[in-house]
Amino acid sequence: MHLHEMTSPQVAALDRRIPVVIPIAAVEQHGPHLPLMTDSLLVGEVARRAHVGLAGKILMAPLMWLGNSEHHLDFPGTMSAAPRTYLDLLKEMARNFLKHGFRRIVFLNGHGGNMIPAQQALFELRQETRDDQTPLLLHATYWALGDTGRPMTELVPDLVQGEMGHACEWETSMMLALYRKLVGEYQSLPAVPFGKPFSPAHRAWITRERTTPGYIGTPSVATALKGEQLFELFASQVVALLERVIAWDGVSWDG
Ligand SMILES: [Zn+2]
Repeated sequence: MHLHEMTSPQVAALDRRIPVVIPIAAVEQHGPHLPLMTDSLLVGEVARRAHVGLAGKILMAPLMWLGNSEHHLDFPGTMSAAPRTYLDLLKEMARNFLKHGFRRIVFLNGHGGNMIPAQQALFELRQETRDDQTPLLLHATYWALGDTGRPMTELVPDLVQGEMGHACEWETSMMLALYRKLVGEYQSLPAVPFGKPFSPAHRAWITRERTTPGYIGTPSVATALKGEQLFELFASQVVALLERVIAWDGVSWDG
């Protein structure tokens, strides 16, 4: 079910145990070869596949295209809600669903810069609803749901990158599978290494200090086949998570 296709009485009639999935994304620079809408298109496709896989068992909210992309603002075309604005936006969206009686709310994220604000938004909302035992507030980034212990380079044949970069092998591959005509020349782009900035500490960063062209990783090795395999893998992992949310008994800590 899609919230935006339903009437208010139809929403009123829903079982409140249904998981509400809110895809959150971004419109931001993705190097010289991918469109600004990349993150929104990709998480939108993962959400679409998961919705098909879970026919009728989840309520899909409209995708929120505006994200926290402050680190990309040196690159024209990037749109961003400042981190605190974005945090409040997500918090109020989740609060709307709680007000309407829904209890199981999942942010399905498709952009790295949204992770911390989304987790903080749900953290704050849970503290503010502490007298209510029923809310289940989850944040999940679609490419970070693997729990098999097997590296990505084993799960997807010929994959070069072991982790998500930016406008990289993974994202370029998925865009080739989804919207080939929106992908510009990528095969001659030199790799931009991830680097190890003071690891395992976390260094705050802006994009232009890590990459001049705007991407991070190896877009030149992207293929549509890898993209299709990545979509299938990620969608199946999202479905597995949402099946757990559906099966949750409504009270247990474990789920
Ligand atoms: Zn991206």
